[in-house]
Amino acid sequence: GLPVVAIVGRPNVGKSTIFNRLIGERIAIVEDMPGVTRDRLYGKGEWLTHTFHVIDTGGIEFGETDEILTQMRYQAELAIDEADVIIMIADSRTGATDADVELARMLNRTGKPVVLAVNKADNPEMRADIYDFYSLGLGEPFPVSGSHGLGLGDMLEEVVLHF
Ligand code: GDP
Ligand code: MG
Repeated sequence: GLPVVAIVGRPNVGKSTIFNRLIGERIAIVEDMPGVTRDRLYGKGEWLTHTFHVIDTGGIEFGETDEILTQMRYQAELAIDEADVIIMIADSRTGATDADVELARMLNRTGKPVVLAVNKADNPEMRADIYDFYSLGLGEPFPVSGSHGLGLGDMLEEVVLHF
């Protein structure tokens, strides 16, 4: 079958925005409130000669016992199980948070290839903010802007290397 790419990350980092960019349709729900996208959403992405499935997970929030968050974490774990490549999204504006560190540890343990995208890098100056993210131990962070459609080609070039 087609390679499966799962998008994971904390609520509100821009997973659904990037998912929409990858599938080229407005199917995923983008909301301002953290954590509102609870369901896994599947779409088909195409880039250059590559076709792949994309999963938008509901996000992973650590250190919470809330039932919705537990459910989202479970769904993300399922997505991680199904994925050939995982895109972890972080937020250039917050830097690497404790939850990012926790998630990165979890992803490192899966042994699956992980591509780290640092979103909301909307202008060239903000690309400098990504160096903090090397500390997550996931290799080179790729600055992207989901809402402006920037940097996604470089990110995808890294993703398809693992197909
Ligand atoms: P999710 O919870 O991870 O799925 O995040 P969403 O895709 O729903 O986005 C959360 C918020 O961040 C929304 O208000 C988006 O408009 C905003 N957002 C997403 N990508 C970008 C970006 O590249 N730059 C900026 N400035 N905002 C973004
Ligand atoms: Mg979402």
